[in-house]
Amino acid sequence: MSERITLFVNVILPIPIYKEFTYRIPHDMKDQVGVGIRVIVPFGKSKLYTGIITKISETAPIEYTAKYVEHILDNQPLITPQQYQLWKWISSYYMCSIGEVMNAALPSNFKLASETKVVLHPEYSNNCNNLDEREKEIVEALEIKESLDLKEISEIIGIKTVHPIIKKLYDKRILLPFEELNNRYRAKTALYVSLSANYLDENLLNSLIANLEVQKKSEKLLHALLSVLNTGNFSKDGFNPIEKKVLINSGVSSSSLSTLEKKGIIEIVPYAISRFKLNDKEQAAFKSFSEAQKVAFNEIQTTFDTQNVTLLHGVTGSGKTEIYVQLIQEQLDLGKQVLFLLPEIALTTQLIRRLSHYFGDLVGVYHSRFNQNERIDIWNHVLKNDFNRFRIILGARSSVFLPFQDLGLIIVDEEHEPSFKQYDPAPRYNARDVAVILGHQFKAKVLLGSATPSMESYQNAKNGKYGLVELNTRFGNLLMPEILCADLKKERKQKTLHSHFSSFLLEHISEALKAKEQIILFQNRRGYTPLWNCEICSWTPKCKHCDVSLTYHKHVNQLKCHYCGYVSPPIGSCKSCGSNRLKMLGFGTEKIEDELQLIFQDAKIQRLDLDATRSKNAYENIINDFESRKIDILIGTQMVSKGLDFDHVSLVGILDAELLLNRPDFRAFERSFQLMSQVSGRSGRKHKRGKVILQTSDPDNWVIRKVIEHDYIGFYESEIMERKNFFYPPFYKIIAFTLKSKDEHILNDASQHFAQELRLIFKERVMGPEYPIIKKIQNNYLKVITLKIEKEASDKMIKERLQQLIDAFYSVPSFKSIRIVTDVDPA
Ligand code: ADP
Ligand code: ZN
Ligand code: ZN
Repeated sequence: MSERITLFVNVILPIPIYKEFTYRIPHDMKDQVGVGIRVIVPFGKSKLYTGIITKISETAPIEYTAKYVEHILDNQPLITPQQYQLWKWISSYYMCSIGEVMNAALPSNFKLASETKVVLHPEYSNNCNNLDEREKEIVEALEIKESLDLKEISEIIGIKTVHPIIKKLYDKRILLPFEELNNRYRAKTALYVSLSANYLDENLLNSLIANLEVQKKSEKLLHALLSVLNTGNFSKDGFNPIEKKVLINSGVSSSSLSTLEKKGIIEIVPYAISRFKLNDKEQAAFKSFSEAQKVAFNEIQTTFDTQNVTLLHGVTGSGKTEIYVQLIQEQLDLGKQVLFLLPEIALTTQLIRRLSHYFGDLVGVYHSRFNQNERIDIWNHVLKNDFNRFRIILGARSSVFLPFQDLGLIIVDEEHEPSFKQYDPAPRYNARDVAVILGHQFKAKVLLGSATPSMESYQNAKNGKYGLVELNTRFGNLLMPEILCADLKKERKQKTLHSHFSSFLLEHISEALKAKEQIILFQNRRGYTPLWNCEICSWTPKCKHCDVSLTYHKHVNQLKCHYCGYVSPPIGSCKSCGSNRLKMLGFGTEKIEDELQLIFQDAKIQRLDLDATRSKNAYENIINDFESRKIDILIGTQMVSKGLDFDHVSLVGILDAELLLNRPDFRAFERSFQLMSQVSGRSGRKHKRGKVILQTSDPDNWVIRKVIEHDYIGFYESEIMERKNFFYPPFYKIIAFTLKSKDEHILNDASQHFAQELRLIFKERVMGPEYPIIKKIQNNYLKVITLKIEKEASDKMIKERLQQLIDAFYSVPSFKSIRIVTDVDPA
């Protein structure tokens, strides 16, 4: 490159500003620049960020003098052109900055910023052997202070740009970003041995071996080294690390390994190991399809001839997963990559095991429960389009952001699940919808699967926009569970209710226990009781920071706010009138557990909810205990509704149908139908027809009738009319603006103003502003303005107009302190 040309690069920065920034490349870095490569750049007065180059040019920016790029981190692009296109689509569709999309897309190890805090890796074992002076200084400082941000580190070692050193320490698994340490499910790690980079050169290696051969004393060393070389083998990516344990087991002494390490010949580092690794790579045989599965499989193929997206509507237990498995195999045979998306809670060990059983190491699991190193490992393999590992990504929503090269199929299982949608922070994207766009980019096929499809997807399928395949029978012709109502009103009148349990339910529980069968009880509310209420004046204790009542958690004897985490000790008397007659209303999972234990004293009862699964591995332990029948009754929130397949559950109890049905949300019926049907699906299976007892005060409610009749289509047809009559999705698209401020007055003015501006353009399509049900969260007051737009309207134009209005809003000085949160297609 000619010396005289000055290069400029556009860089995406991880901040909520809607543009890319231009920087200047120092001459000596010219040869390293490339699109998709990470750079460290200064921003504002003293910040440093990691950004990604999106464009190289020779034109300087007009409005400002470009600052210099400080450092280039990669020698190869970290993201692909398709990813950049997808980021741009997400940023424009979901109305957020491309930097925010980048933030969601990159694993945190990839995006050091000056505020990033680092800690020592828990597996790091005080051995500074292969560290240089600066690295040692950092490690020593961290041993004293525990965590440091990059600025502090920069002061300690006296250089400005510490990112490259930190990156090296990350790669050596000596440091971790702080947020990673908080991750409650850390992947298991094991020590791995690999040849150090210096000895990848064959000549050097040979002379080393020759040298060891001459020295009599190094016999053991030679043996160790040769074992490493033999077991580890070279591949096209260099040397494959081997687990230290394997070497030790084959007779290599631990001390000779450490000697080799000290001499810098080998490296011993902890790697995350895949927790579900099979002993060998042998693939289990596929199950042969039932007639119904065969038909469905063929229909899916046929729809794929003409459609990019197909919806597989198959009842619980119909054998959808086995169909997915064979579709995946077809793609593998074609040399394509596959993405299998699941909502976080459905991504259970059970399913991972099932897929790994067929595909072994070709499955990579990508979600927040796994640590960063594992994520980065998967990222790199996918980016390289490695044919030996991670051809199938099984992941939660963020796996749509992986750097796919040659994607052939995307499966979105449980496509109706609201948790595909990210609430906070931006991008507030729905991974199912992003998957459709991603599929389009690669001309890959997209299969949406569900027993209870979302209104949106089923309508798309009915309209012919998507293919539609129905699978109405369970595998093995098992019957759908029998759903019976326990009429709470009636039992209340007859005084047969025991606290929250109908005698009808209790009788069934007791029968199931006698028969040594298992029971799942579903209550979508955690804690003990959500409401303490003064009998005299109706006062209830509320959160200091939010406009919600506190929930009593008996096991820790605390009142907790489920919105901000605020806790307070229990309250003995009414803060308003002083009376001590506080009664508890409503009931959560904890209370059910306590009361049930009193009734069934010998039963082993366990809760499965957010509180019970906070500690590491708790979730998996509970599931394992239930599977191995150490638990008789499992009580849980929606966590029990997904992805679990137990053989000995003969009874499911739904404790409070009204709690679901009465939510003030246009999707309340859809969600109720889905949750009740899904939970019911946990009952029965292999050995016996399952039973479900649904407790309700209104057994004639039409949604409940449809659940009992297993009539999804009937449900869909009634509900879709309601949606049409009241201008809701899927006929209209919703964009919700939540304005937030600590100052209620300014908030009122600002939201009136913003709604007015919106009405000038969008007229009667604008609703509000109004207070949401919870009008204050974490000391911020909230107002919501909702926009309902015809599905046919031009999306791009509308969003551009909206962005202009938002920009204009912020140009009013007194509104600067207001935050507008834009949520496109709220879930
Ligand atoms: P879904 O995903 O639709 O809920 P699954 O794929 O989990 O259904 O199948 C339900 C049960 O039936 C599972 O235990 C599965 O192993 C079994 N099953 C499904 N298809 C077959 C088949 N072709 N041969 C044998 N067992 C099958
Ligand atoms: Zn009172
Ligand atoms: Zn709170």
